[in-house]
Amino acid sequence: WNYHLTHFVTSAPDIRHLPSDSGIEVAFAGRSNAGKSSALNTLTNQKSLARTSKTPGRTQLINLFQVAEGYRLVDLPGYGYAEVPEEVKLKWQHALSEYLHRRECLKGLVVLMDIRHPLKDLDQQMIKWAVQSDIQVLVLLTKADKLASGARKAQLNLVREAAKGFVGDIQVEVFSSLKRIGVDKLSQKLDSWFTD
Ligand code: GDP
Repeated sequence: WNYHLTHFVTSAPDIRHLPSDSGIEVAFAGRSNAGKSSALNTLTNQKSLARTSKTPGRTQLINLFQVAEGYRLVDLPGYGYAEVPEEVKLKWQHALSEYLHRRECLKGLVVLMDIRHPLKDLDQQMIKWAVQSDIQVLVLLTKADKLASGARKAQLNLVREAAKGFVGDIQVEVFSSLKRIGVDKLSQKLDSWFTD
């Protein structure tokens, strides 16, 4: 699969406005600032496919990109903004839960977490929802360039151990958009999801 050919298709405010539930989708989720936009831009080799600077509190949309006809990458709204009112946070969480539980064409979920602060409550919640729906998970520990190799390994091992507790199909890898670490691991996983 050539992810460089990925292009924007449409945005949706909630799952009722998504295109038809057919083909294969892989979704990207993470706390705001986790490095999700950068990862999508690195994967697709496009400078601003997913905007890398977004205003917290602004209406968050589900953005859909097409890799090829019927094969989509889905950029889910970032979660965990401190300044957002509780009511709005709960609404986003509900939308994410709905998408993960009801979207039949959803094959895999990529959860991005800053390698220095992994597995926050909402990260764990996303993994739980995915596992409940038999969706495979790839956890990317982002900004790995911020840690020296020893600390990087230690965080990887810690999260891999914790992942065993979810009893699902969860792969954990280190990632850096800046240093292009883990990009092959990501595209290989996407290939496997889009192929079978
Ligand atoms: P998003 O909110 O999850 O989409 O996160 P962004 O991709 O917008 O990145 C948030 C911040 O982290 C920005 O300042 C990026 O420049 C920075 N960032 C993203 N990826 C990396 C990385 O691999 N290494 C480093 N050092 N910084 C990164």
